[in-house]
Order: sequence, then structure tokens, then C-alpha cells
Amino acid sequence: MTKALPLRCENLSKSYGPRSLFAGVNLELAPRERLALLGASGSGKSTLLHCLSGVAAPDAGSVWLGGEKLDQLDGEALAACRRQQIGTVFQFFHLLPTLTAEENIELPLQLLGQPKPKRRARVAALLERMGIANRAHAFPSELSGGEMQRIAIARAIAHQPPIIFADEPTGNLDRKAGIAVLQLLEEITNEENAALLMVTHSEEAAAICQRRYHLVDGSLQSA
Ligand code: ADP
Ligand code: MG
Repeated sequence: MTKALPLRCENLSKSYGPRSLFAGVNLELAPRERLALLGASGSGKSTLLHCLSGVAAPDAGSVWLGGEKLDQLDGEALAACRRQQIGTVFQFFHLLPTLTAEENIELPLQLLGQPKPKRRARVAALLERMGIANRAHAFPSELSGGEMQRIAIARAIAHQPPIIFADEPTGNLDRKAGIAVLQLLEEITNEENAALLMVTHSEEAAAICQRRYHLVDGSLQSA
């Protein structure tokens, strides 16, 4: 049996009112492949990412995550598919403020029903790997931006999803912290065999990706 691609879309289109953001988008991501999606502010990058990650429904076209066709799943099945197949990294981290660093990383494993000893071992290994073991019991408000993003990356990869979606992962970090986070994203996706689809303004960030596209006037142009 051939293994399903982490991500595939066909003929994807989305408009808001009279404005078409993108139309006829086709894309495939191979296992472990990293792809950068560049484009001007407001060009529709985040919306495309939301359609690809099952957060928003496209107007037309289809998306497959790990071989599952999203428009054929009901709400519960879609949520389960997303929990298993993807990890997400955001510009503003989106850590839960009432949970410690290690509890934030553990949460997706809990949602997947993993037994506690297994969860704990995985979280400890990730904290170590991310160089933040000493911050395990800190709350997000006590962490720097770079630390928060490393926690968020650990949370995204914890359940070993075939693909990570990242929307401007360095957009809220200073240059030095941004470079460190990019290096970690590159290394951890290699180590954990995850593909990456990253939305970014930054050519420097896009450099960790093997493939780069610009979203221009609603279609993808190879960069
Ligand atoms: P980017 O991530 O490239 O900056 P976005 O995908 O966030 O662009 O947004 C593209 C355009 O779509 C923007 O003009 C934005 O205002 C508009 N838009 C985004 N989400 C919505 C929505 N839910 N309803 C209406 N318009 C939206
Ligand atoms: Mg955006």
C-alpha cells in the first residue's frame, strides 16, 4: 500500500463577497517536504492555510489530509482528523495561559487519549530537545517570545503529525529569536519526519523550505 501524502488539494477556490482570494489552486506536499507560501499582506495566505488545514471550508475544490478528504467528514470526524494529522504553529503562539509549558505540550496527547506515562516521557524529551527543560513549570506569561514559540512547536509536533502548518511563526519575534525558531523548525521536522507548510513574509524564513511559492493575484507562482 502506498502511503497517503500529508497534504493534497485540487482546484481550491475561496472568495469573500465579490473578492476572489484564490482560485484553481493545486498543491501536493510529499512526506518530510517543506513548502513556504509567500505573498503580500492581505493576499490570502492565511485563508489558504485555513482551507488546507480544515479550519475554513473552500468555496470549491477538495483537500486531503493524510488521504482523508475533508469535505466528506462530519464535524467530529474532521476534528479527529485534524488532531491526528496536523500540528499548528501561530504568529502569536496561542498557548493556553492557565497551563504551564509542559501542560501545553501535553494537551494534544491527552486529547488523543494517550496514557499518562507515555505522554509524560514524550513531553520531557521534547522539552529537553527544545532546550527549555528548565521552563517546564513556567506559565506562558513568564516566558519570552522565543521560549513560547519553542513550546508551541513542541506542542505541534508532540503527536508526530505528518504535517505542521505554521502561519508567520517568526512574525512576532526579534531577528535572533526568529532565526533560532526557524532552525528548530527545520531540525525537528527532519527528526520527526513531518512535512511543513509555512506562511511567511520573510525570504529568510522561506530559506528553510525546499519549495517556495508566491500567492499573487489568487494563484501560486513558483519562487
Ligand atoms: P494574508 O494572510 O495574506 O495577509 P488573509 O488570508 O488573512 O491574508 O486575508 C486576505 C483578505 O481576506 C484580506 O483582505 C482580509 O481582510 C479578507 N478576509 C480574511 N478573512 C475574512 C473573513 N472571515 N471575512 C471577510 N473577509 C476576510
Ligand atoms: Mg496572514
